[in-house]
Amino acid sequence: MTSAQLFYVLITILILNFIVDKILSTLNSNRFDDVIPPELEDVYEKEDYEKSQAYKKTNAKFSTITGLFSLLLTLSFFFFDGFKYVDEIARNFTKNSILITLIFFGIILIGSDLINIPFSIYKTFVIEEQFGFNKTTKKTFIFDKLKGLVMTVVVGGGLLALIVWFYEFAGSTFWVYAWVVIAAFSVFMNMFYSKLIVPLFNKQKPLEAGALKTAIQDYAKTVGFKLDNIFVIDGSKRSTKANAYFSGFGKQKRITLYDTLIHDLETDEIVAVLAHEVGHYKRKHIVFNLSSSILLTGFTLWLLSLFVSLPIFSEALGVNIPSFHIGLIAFGILYSPISQVTGLFMNIMSRKFEYQADNYAKETFSAKPLVSSLKKLSKNSLSNLTPHAAYVFMHYSHPTLLERVKNLLE
Ligand SMILES: [Zn+2]
Repeated sequence: MTSAQLFYVLITILILNFIVDKILSTLNSNRFDDVIPPELEDVYEKEDYEKSQAYKKTNAKFSTITGLFSLLLTLSFFFFDGFKYVDEIARNFTKNSILITLIFFGIILIGSDLINIPFSIYKTFVIEEQFGFNKTTKKTFIFDKLKGLVMTVVVGGGLLALIVWFYEFAGSTFWVYAWVVIAAFSVFMNMFYSKLIVPLFNKQKPLEAGALKTAIQDYAKTVGFKLDNIFVIDGSKRSTKANAYFSGFGKQKRITLYDTLIHDLETDEIVAVLAHEVGHYKRKHIVFNLSSSILLTGFTLWLLSLFVSLPIFSEALGVNIPSFHIGLIAFGILYSPISQVTGLFMNIMSRKFEYQADNYAKETFSAKPLVSSLKKLSKNSLSNLTPHAAYVFMHYSHPTLLERVKNLLE
C-alpha cells in the first residue's frame, strides 16, 4: 500500500463512521413518535411526554450539527496538512521527543476543546436550560472546564509521557510496560476515584442516620453485604437528573447516591436501586468489566506496537519525520472499526449484566419498587421509550425500559 492510498483509507473510515452513525440515529429519530407500549403508559403525563419528544428531537438535531461540524473539521485537518503544521510547531520548541509528543497532543486537544466550547455552552445553557435540567451556574461551568483541563494535562500528559519514554528505551516491546502502567492506573482509579477525583467536582457527605439509612442497612444485612460507606453527592449542583453508582472493592467499596435521587424516589425505591447495584457487585460484574477492559487495553497496545513505527503512517499524514504521536493518530483511526466491534460486544455483555442485576434485586428485595424507580428515573431524564432496535443493539449499555420492566414483572 502506498501512503496516498493509506490517506484515503483513513478518510474513508472517518466518513463511513459518520454515515453509519447517522443512519442509526435517523432510524432511531423516526421512532420518536411511535405509540407508547401499554407497560409504559404511566411513565409520563401527556404534557411531559410531549416535552420529552421535543427534547429528543432537539438533541438529535444538535448532535447532527456537531457531528457534521467535527467531521468537516477533521477532514480539513487531513486535507490541509494540519498534522504536519502542528508537528512542525512542536518541533520548533524542542528536540526532546517526549516534549514534542506532549506539545503536539496539547495543541490538538486544547484546540479542539476551545472550538467545542460554544457547542458545550449551547448544550448546557440553552438546550438543558430550556428543558429545565440545567442547574449549572456560569461559575461552575468555567471551573469544571478548568479543572477538567488540569486533570487532562496532569493525568493524561503524565501517562502519555511515560508511554513515549517506554517507546524510546524498549522499542516495539514498549506495549508491555505501557500495559502494566495503564492496568495499575485503572485499578487504582477504580479504588480511589470517589476519594480523589469526585471531591474536585462535587461535595459528598455520609448519608445521615434516618429511615433511609436504616432501610439500606437492613437490606444489606439480609444479603450479607458489608456496606459502611454510603455517600450522598450534590448532583443537584449541575443537573436535576438523578443517579446512583457503586465503586471500589473490599474496604474501599462505597455506594454514592445523588441528592436528586433521594429527593425524587421513595425509600423502598432507593433500596431497590441499591439492591440492583449490590447485584452487580455480587455477580462479579465490576471485576469482570475491569479485567476485560484491561485485557482489551493490552490487545490494543500490542496492535499499536505492530504499526506505530511504520513510516507509511507518517507519510500518509504528510509528515516527513516518523514519530510515535503521528503513528498514534493514524492507528487511532484505523483501529476505530475494531473498537466499534469490541464496543458492541461490551454493550451486549453489559445488557446481560443489567438483567442479572435486576433479577438479583427482584429475588433479594422486590421487583415493584425497582420498576417504579426505573420509570421515575426515565421520566426525569426524559429518556426514550420507543428506541429503534438497531440503535439499541449498537449503542445501549442497558436494555430498554420496556425490556427491563417486562423482565421484572414476568
Ligand atoms: Zn446496572
